Amino acid sequence: MVGRDPLRRCVACRQLFPRSQMWRLVRQFDSHQVLLEEGMGRSAYLCRRPECLQEARRKQRLSKALKAPVPEDLFQRLEVSLSSH
Ligand SMILES: [Zn+2]
Repeated sequence: MVGRDPLRRCVACRQLFPRSQMWRLVRQFDSHQVLLEEGMGRSAYLCRRPECLQEARRKQRLSKALKAPVPEDLFQRLEVSLSSH
């Protein structure tokens, strides 16, 4: 249902996808630490495609969208989850 699975825009390819098919990165409102699918604060969305992950990493699309650095281990977790499919 649309209301339960709203569309979000990927920071890399700029296409819209259902929220449930994307990664959500959240800059915590208090600490400004960037976490995956956790907490509350400013969010950026990335679709789960290898080329978008590469693009986001290379061009720092997520850290620009969130205005906070994205930790390297978070990118590694995303890569691992892609390769496990
Ligand atoms: Zn994308």
